[in-house]
Amino acid sequence: MVTSINHLGNYRDLLQRFKDSAYAFKFFGEQSSSHGEIILRHDIDFDTHMALKMAQIETDLGIKSTYFFLIRSSLYNIFSAKDYDQVLAIKALGHKIGIHFDPTIYPDFHSGLAQEIELFKHFFQEEVNTISLHRPNDFFQTYDAPIHGVEHTYQSKYFKKMKYFSDSRGSFRYGHPFESTEFKEGKSIQLLIHPIWWMTKGIDNLEKLRVYYEKRREDLKTDFFNNCIPFREIYETVQ
Ligand SMILES: [Zn+2]
Repeated sequence: MVTSINHLGNYRDLLQRFKDSAYAFKFFGEQSSSHGEIILRHDIDFDTHMALKMAQIETDLGIKSTYFFLIRSSLYNIFSAKDYDQVLAIKALGHKIGIHFDPTIYPDFHSGLAQEIELFKHFFQEEVNTISLHRPNDFFQTYDAPIHGVEHTYQSKYFKKMKYFSDSRGSFRYGHPFESTEFKEGKSIQLLIHPIWWMTKGIDNLEKLRVYYEKRREDLKTDFFNNCIPFREIYETVQ
């Protein structure tokens, strides 16, 4: 079924199917069985607003998941007033929040993570027990040890010992969960879902990116307008 791979469909329907199949939603570290459990994970690469919209859908359905945020992204800023409130709102809905860690920006990724954890704990009053890695290369995909004593989602207990599915790049490139034998047999699953592919309108991943990019451009223009008085003179004439 090619269509189900290219067209991800409705997020509520996806979650409902797991619920209907009696899957129990767990946080990292909470799983206890090789069958019947799903760890729903979100790596937030673009913005906190879509993450919050997704979190609300999950809470409506009585589902909990884990949201990992980049601390040093150039695309959003969890310490800005707006993003900060949205991250806290996700936590208040009953989900877990954590760090989406990019180890490549540090000469020593262990101490880099230690710094990020300190910041995160200070601002969000949240213990960091598990992190997810941003765009892990081969080295980190097979790095089976904790980093600075903290577990990560590519350790084999989450990545190999349970079936892993991801919508990276906008499709289930390595097979749709519902078409897998693991799902049919009710085996435990880690599912990585990026909000951009589900919370943006568009027939395929490229159209979604186009729509999303256009929205960000408009938002940037509004931010310039609100924060810089002379910009208002050229507002109408710039793209
Ligand atoms: Zn990422």
